[in-house]
Amino acid sequence: MSSSVALRLPSIDGLLRHPACAPLAERYGRDCLLTGLRQLLDELRPGVLSGQLSAVEIGAEVLAGRVGERLAQQQRSQVRRVFNLTGTVLHTNLGRALLPEEAIEAVQMAARYPLNLEFDLATGKRGDRDDLIEGLIRELTGAEAVTVVNNNAAAVLLTLNSLGARKEGIISRGELIEIGGAFRIPDIMARAGVRLHEVGTTNRTHARDYQAAIGPRSGLIMRVHASNYSIEGFTARVPTAELAELAHTHGLPLLEDLGSGSLLDLTRWGLPAEPTVRQALLDGADIVTFSGDKLLGGPQAGLIVGRKELIAKIKKNPLKRALRVDKLTLAALEAVLGLYRDPDRLAERLPSLRLLTRPQAEIHAQALRLQPLLADVLGEVWLVSAVEALGMIGSGSQPVARLPSAALCCRPQVSKRWRGRYLLNLEAALRGLPIPVLGRIDDDALWLDLRQLDDEPAWLAQLAQLQVDL
Ligand SMILES: *Cc1c(COP(=O)(O)O)cnc(C)c1O
Repeated sequence: MSSSVALRLPSIDGLLRHPACAPLAERYGRDCLLTGLRQLLDELRPGVLSGQLSAVEIGAEVLAGRVGERLAQQQRSQVRRVFNLTGTVLHTNLGRALLPEEAIEAVQMAARYPLNLEFDLATGKRGDRDDLIEGLIRELTGAEAVTVVNNNAAAVLLTLNSLGARKEGIISRGELIEIGGAFRIPDIMARAGVRLHEVGTTNRTHARDYQAAIGPRSGLIMRVHASNYSIEGFTARVPTAELAELAHTHGLPLLEDLGSGSLLDLTRWGLPAEPTVRQALLDGADIVTFSGDKLLGGPQAGLIVGRKELIAKIKKNPLKRALRVDKLTLAALEAVLGLYRDPDRLAERLPSLRLLTRPQAEIHAQALRLQPLLADVLGEVWLVSAVEALGMIGSGSQPVARLPSAALCCRPQVSKRWRGRYLLNLEAALRGLPIPVLGRIDDDALWLDLRQLDDEPAWLAQLAQLQVDL
């Protein structure tokens, strides 16, 4: 017969009164503490009954410590900052464009105070939220009128539904694209109630193909900027100006979904040429849609610009109400657009443009500076080198173009059969840091592209905590 006395878990009341738990009640509230203690005791009970736990393991102090850890974990925000060292600047999964200080201040103001969102301060009457940014967008694009929705997918859906429902939408087979996730032009058309009338072939579509498709059921001609892939070789595409003329001869509107839609010619900063919104309108597109958080460098939003009577029709669609932007977005968007009025200083002030145009030499110097520090932390198993690398714009913009950059390249010095595991472990360790660091694995190495490493002090401060399982 065992001589030991059966162990008993401390009571909830006893624990709540214990000095080790008092600060937890103070910090997380009594209800959370109570729930946490109950869960923990329930989990421990079987171990106590079967005699697997010692008295120390169920002491009040130990239990308070465990509940404290659990509550701290639960309180930590799920929305977390990360370091984007993937080499893709406008990374859709990592939140795309970073906002400039001016926009952050505007968002704070809009969050903190009531504002004239739909209130005309001049007349004291009800206003329209689009009016707050219409003037700026007209100035920057030359459009007659403007409306803004939640994102560009919404902009395309709303425009198609407003102008082409129950009619045919004519589009080239080379432009029936899919954009990340579940946005496919044929599906969006169907949901918008527009019957797809595809013309031409994947690589070549001529004016006569569009011409032949036009008939009594036609509602619009659509053109989609094939932002995330490129068709090269034996190709033919009708210039926007020619397509616009054809559309207008038959009384049809021409929609152009530009996707990234740059407001200025990016070649001025040495970036690949991207069609501008102004040019698309000048070429005769009646409506142009584009994203707020791609090359524009602002908040998630979908901008619809173009002819006044068409915009009026779009704004009357009840779907507009379901897809409208919120006040925080609008405040940020206005501030970002304001920066475009001074193109000379745009690359200093707009984070996305500043990062996209960061000189390779500067990034390389940073890589050389950080290389010994990372090598030191990782130890001898890893060969860390500062190397040239190629990044991307991201968000489907210029998929073939590469941004010359520099990276810390980490190669495990182990036999080939172990490399994959080492790389995954390093990747996981970097993700496990207080501010997770995201790189990319390629060619048997883990690459940390430093183009976007702005906050070097924060990155360095947590480096010592990096611990890779081997
Ligand atoms: C990105 C993109 C979209 C979708 O825009 P979101 O702002 O991500 O909704 C639509 N069309 C094109 C051509 C795009 O490049």
